[in-house]
Amino acid sequence: MIDYKFFDQVNRAFDKAAAYTRFDSGLLSQMKSCNDILHITFPLERDDGSIEVIHGWRVEHSHHKLPTKGGIRYSLTVNEDETMALAALMTYKCAVVNVPFGGAKGGIRINKNDYSDQELERITRRFTFQLYKKNFIGPGSDVPAPDYGTGAREMGWILDTFRQISSDINAEGCVTGKPLGQGGIRGRTEATGRGVFFGIEEACSNKEDMNKIGLETGIEGKAFVVQGLGNVGYHSAKYLTEAGAIMVGIAEMDGSIYNENGIDLKKLTDYRRETGGIVGFEGAQTLEDSNTVLEAKCDILIPAALENQLNAENAQRIKAKIIGEAANGPTTSEAHEIIKKRGALIIPDNYLNAGGVTVSYFEWLKNIQHVRFGRMGKRFEEDSYKRILSVIEAVSDRKFSDKELKYLAKGGGEAELVDSGLKDTMVNSYNEINEIRKKHEVDLRTAAFISAINKVGEIYEHMGIFP
Ligand code: GLU
Repeated sequence: MIDYKFFDQVNRAFDKAAAYTRFDSGLLSQMKSCNDILHITFPLERDDGSIEVIHGWRVEHSHHKLPTKGGIRYSLTVNEDETMALAALMTYKCAVVNVPFGGAKGGIRINKNDYSDQELERITRRFTFQLYKKNFIGPGSDVPAPDYGTGAREMGWILDTFRQISSDINAEGCVTGKPLGQGGIRGRTEATGRGVFFGIEEACSNKEDMNKIGLETGIEGKAFVVQGLGNVGYHSAKYLTEAGAIMVGIAEMDGSIYNENGIDLKKLTDYRRETGGIVGFEGAQTLEDSNTVLEAKCDILIPAALENQLNAENAQRIKAKIIGEAANGPTTSEAHEIIKKRGALIIPDNYLNAGGVTVSYFEWLKNIQHVRFGRMGKRFEEDSYKRILSVIEAVSDRKFSDKELKYLAKGGGEAELVDSGLKDTMVNSYNEINEIRKKHEVDLRTAAFISAINKVGEIYEHMGIFP
């Protein structure tokens, strides 16, 4: 078994796709390389007074569009190679879904559970300060967001720290995924999972593809397994179950559970809140270890945790017909080939989990526009609908009830507009990469890379090279 590094894995997928594009090797290698890599160490004073050295990274992969964009993760897996790979994936992901940013990624090598809230706040604020000093954060330069182990709370700390040292009028746009009261946007927390749902829904509506893998079209009745019940996994599971899919298995840090008749998500999350884990949940059978359930019988497998989870070791035993990559880089290139050979449909990460950055884009737009989406038009729309409905009432016997009027005359507020923009993005991008897939007879991952390389490459061609 060859142990490819993560950044190499991304580049292998890139190279495969690059063969279908017109760019020469010089431009391609320029496109692949990371523009700026920052490794920071700083001391943390722990609550007991001891000092610990913290390691953090920020990588800006591509400046072909600015700002660069990508999350900050808190995990013990964080290192330079991982951050480079994830930053590169952000560049391609943004291009696939037409979000006008370059790619970046950051990470701090800690297990967040080992630190108190006060310590996490000190770490986050100090990291932000270091990023600022090196010009690695700002609404026009580099804009972080949540990732594995971080959320709205950390983004709020980042904004507050940035604000104290910068008087930029667009300061709110220096980070996305913020709490609503600090310039966040409705729908950002749910966005990646919501996007995963829209992507899988679109893939499952394709009759030809479903026939090939022996499934009916539609989400209803499909059995799925999810790995990781964090923000992304939880919301993917929530929207899939709401649409009638059946959650048969879950893998978490403490173990995995399975029930072919379906597992109740609400009861399970209550159980986890009480016990701190999923193992022993009454409504399902507890399996040997965290990875066993990945090999269970199901229609859709959703890895929503970390990278390299489907690998040469377990790929042969994976039975799912659809792999929905909600995490970044969950399938190694070797596993990809094994699963593909079996005929399964892999919906790749560089498309499927782009809902997060798409709504981050909307949040950033809101911040630099200094106005909430829907603020100007919502009431105007509602009044127009009401006028149309009253004409319908006047020319027919139909009288609308108050409930009907409320539903029919609803204007687009922020939540509705974000959801509409996200769905449009996921549906259009799927069809865009699906066309490329058919044209070149490649898989969806290669198609997504071809789409990204073509879009980014065209910009690189017109970028000046300083003598
Ligand atoms: N961390 C998320 C990702 O990997 C979101 C990035 C963002 O919103 O900038 O796509």
